[in-house]
Amino acid sequence: MPMTEIREYGHEQVVFCNNEEAGLQAIIGIHDTTLGPGLGGCRMYPYSSVQDALTDALRLSRGMSYKAAAAGLNLGGGKAVIIGDPKKDKSEALFRAFGRAVEALGGRYITAEDVGTDVNDMEYIFMETASVTGVDASHGGSGDPSPFTALGVLQGMRAACEAVFNGDGLKGHTVAVQGLGHVGFHLVKLLADEGARIVACDIDKEKVQAAKAEVPGLEIVDGEQIFDVDMDVFAPCAMGSAINDKTIKRIGAKVVCGAANNQLDRDELGAELTSKGVLYAPDYVVNAGGLINVSVELEGYSREQALRLTRNIYYNTLKILRMARKEGIPTNQAADRLAEERIRSIGLVRGSFSNFNRGRGKGDHPFSR
Ligand code: NAD
Repeated sequence: MPMTEIREYGHEQVVFCNNEEAGLQAIIGIHDTTLGPGLGGCRMYPYSSVQDALTDALRLSRGMSYKAAAAGLNLGGGKAVIIGDPKKDKSEALFRAFGRAVEALGGRYITAEDVGTDVNDMEYIFMETASVTGVDASHGGSGDPSPFTALGVLQGMRAACEAVFNGDGLKGHTVAVQGLGHVGFHLVKLLADEGARIVACDIDKEKVQAAKAEVPGLEIVDGEQIFDVDMDVFAPCAMGSAINDKTIKRIGAKVVCGAANNQLDRDELGAELTSKGVLYAPDYVVNAGGLINVSVELEGYSREQALRLTRNIYYNTLKILRMARKEGIPTNQAADRLAEERIRSIGLVRGSFSNFNRGRGKGDHPFSR
């Protein structure tokens, strides 16, 4: 039953959008706006049922509440899904209809790019609403978030490696990177600059070639073999559930730190990693660079500001690792606790977010730092 599921996830609001003329069927999940408007990407995917789309919208938007809270942003959690095939079903009308649905929420939800959508789609949405980030630079946008996500993952990895390998950085350590897409590609470049040995894989040969051209020393293995590499760090940068009941037995790394969302197939695997002596840098803590970057758009985009805030992921990761050690809990639980505690304590001071009249200029934003 949808309502039971919505209650279980704890959402404030879930909006079903329908515009037959424009071919739009979408769901917007607004999980928690205690800290600010729910910001999160718009995914376009050919879901096989409305139920699957709803579950994805709920899961993803709740994840954004935790990500924004743990990153110290004044943002809540939101996410949208459009039911459709991004290769066949995109049109100006569809994204403008979606933009109108977003506009009708009065600023409670701010959209952005996600899997299946890109900057061109955001431009159409922007014609109907200002509640969109990731638009073109000419409209105050910040462009591709992936380099920021990769930089944040590197900061998280440095923090975790310093905790495990006694402060000698990444130089000489072997990092196994699963996935050489937008984030993985930038991450292997950064890791090469740090002097790490990098072993990587991607199921897409073109992605492998592009990464090899950029990082000549990159070693490549076939897809599944990545789990058996003799490695110090495992960096999942492909799909979710990289750590599952099967792969956990094969991963010989001392640190797991990567960009992929929902790396743990189930929460309990966090405790299993801990008991195996593996330090897990929680996914939503280390992959927040992209969100941080788009959030800077809300106060007038500055690349320097986005870089500065993204580098803070190093300290944020250290804070969570210390909390986990002190309280004797797995790192994923520590991250959840920190996020929930921040939402709770700021909620007491602020009450719930209600309306939001956002301008594009610095200082117009009610949550400007
Ligand atoms: P992407 O689609 O550009 O890259 C993913 C890559 O993984 C692709 O090249 C794909 O071929 C490869 N891949 C898929 N399955 C694989 C497998 N089994 N083995 C090896 N390679 C496989 O996506 P991205 O933007 O680089 O994002 C990577 C992950 O990070 C995703 O989980 C995404 O949700 C998450 N993430 C991305 C950002 C961002 O800024 N792009 C921000 C936060 C989180």
